[in-house]
Amino acid sequence: MTEKCKDCGKCCLNTEMMLSKKEIILLLKNYPQDLQEEDFVLKNNEYFQLKNVNGHCVFFDISTKKCKIYSNRPQGCRFYPLTYDKDKKTCVFDEDCPRTHLFYQSHDEFEKTCEQIQKFLREYLDIKL
Ligand code: SF4
Ligand code: SF4
Repeated sequence: MTEKCKDCGKCCLNTEMMLSKKEIILLLKNYPQDLQEEDFVLKNNEYFQLKNVNGHCVFFDISTKKCKIYSNRPQGCRFYPLTYDKDKKTCVFDEDCPRTHLFYQSHDEFEKTCEQIQKFLREYLDIKL
């Protein structure tokens, strides 16, 4: 976890983070313990997403406030707190993050990441934007 996120982990509580099929396969391959798809994957009407247990992401360690799969965390967790707003047709910071001012501070970085988010949504999650 980066310094920016130290002692926070708010975005790992009641997560609705999307998962691509490719990420599910990679996690099953790389997770050190015996992990089954049903342990961490939830399917909603449109896409797969991370499952919660006791109000937090199944991979969140509530005592240390750290992600247990940090180096293999899903792409959406890497982009966060930047997200894509389908109605506004642009990227926005998620209001749930209390430290958005620390992320993507330059215009170029913001725009570049926004393009990557849209590409990810289209190509890996098959979502029409
Ligand atoms: S991205 Fe925001 S909400 Fe998530 S851990 Fe970092 S500071 Fe907290
Ligand atoms: S995978 Fe890690 S970073 Fe992503 S929501 Fe779960 S605990 Fe948080």
